[in-house]
Amino acid sequence: MIRDNCLVCDSKNIEEIIDLGSHPFADTFIPESKKDMADMVFPLVCTLCNECGHVQTKYSTDPNARYSQTDYSYTSSNSSFSRNHWDSYAEEISEEINLPNGSLIAEIGSNDGYLSEQFNKLGYNSVGVDPSPYMAELAKVRGINTIIGLFEKETSEKFLNKYGQAKLVVANNVFNHSDNPRDFVKAVTKILSDKGYFVFEQPYWLTSIKTEKFDQIYHEHVSYFTVKSVKKLLSDAGLSIIYVNIVNYHGGSLRIIAQKNSKSSEAEKRILEEEEQSGIFDSETYKKFMQKICNQRNIFLERVYKLKQKNKPIVAVGAAAKGNTFLNFYNLNKTVIDYVTDSSPHKIGKYTPATRIPIVGDEIFKKYSEVYALILSWNLKDQLLPILSKINPNIQFISPEEIP
Ligand SMILES: [Zn+2]
Repeated sequence: MIRDNCLVCDSKNIEEIIDLGSHPFADTFIPESKKDMADMVFPLVCTLCNECGHVQTKYSTDPNARYSQTDYSYTSSNSSFSRNHWDSYAEEISEEINLPNGSLIAEIGSNDGYLSEQFNKLGYNSVGVDPSPYMAELAKVRGINTIIGLFEKETSEKFLNKYGQAKLVVANNVFNHSDNPRDFVKAVTKILSDKGYFVFEQPYWLTSIKTEKFDQIYHEHVSYFTVKSVKKLLSDAGLSIIYVNIVNYHGGSLRIIAQKNSKSSEAEKRILEEEEQSGIFDSETYKKFMQKICNQRNIFLERVYKLKQKNKPIVAVGAAAKGNTFLNFYNLNKTVIDYVTDSSPHKIGKYTPATRIPIVGDEIFKKYSEVYALILSWNLKDQLLPILSKINPNIQFISPEEIP
């Protein structure tokens, strides 16, 4: 199905800006039993709304297929970098809004319950909402109760009936996944108490474009937010941005705190101006962007194929959703990439979608005297380099950004 209307302002004045070809779901890794079955692929195209500046994917995919029917593999606590991030997130937010002890917190998209658990350690009472029964099981082990379902009207009513209104609603990297962000935010206002806070973090589109990172784009990410489009979305639901900051997560994320009927922050005005001047609301910017990423691909592939002609092993590092966008856009499959390594036990033993590269632990590097490594989780590069070099000091790192 094609999205003809802007998900934020409903305008039909939207135009195509980015086309990455056909891609499978990026956050689904394939178990051995389904290895020989074909994966569904869909065109991965983004559109820009000329009215409100919102960017969204053009083709809609079934959210049930994305999360419940397949084994959605992303856990929010999959690396020590992630865990540190969520540890300080819980501390910083509770300080910023001065939340009283024992307050009820609703975490939408609670995943394996890691962040909710951190809030509980600080003395709060967190309840999760998540579509994946598998993740709800993992959260239970951490002592977090989860309402299973996509966050929409029905789920919010279930939450209200069982727990009442929350003082804090948390939704990280989740309503950019929603097929209906307007209803999502309206449902948030229903479960939020009058003086309560809504806090969320998600990848920041301006940073992705500035740094030429196209790999934050995948089917699961339906919306690509800017402060401009978030402001429109929130204000239509009676919420104002009282805090906005750009944090170092997923290579640059927006952290926003909103409240009902409040005054907007100075930082908001400053960032809105920066966004207007950056060219991200102008389709011409994306013509240059596409040209740049295609050129980079051509140059890098030439290098990769030269290595393969000499039969050199190439191992990619980091079985993450963005890595799948990269592999599929570059058409790097198991015939070119020998393995993808990852530290998550939920991914090792599985295969990457469509490209069918086996996922193994980092120890695989030990078996080679000469080996090339391509880091897909570039946001974790500083943490990964010393670990990998310790496993094998002969690893040679290659990347499209560093052409020798
Ligand atoms: Zn719009």
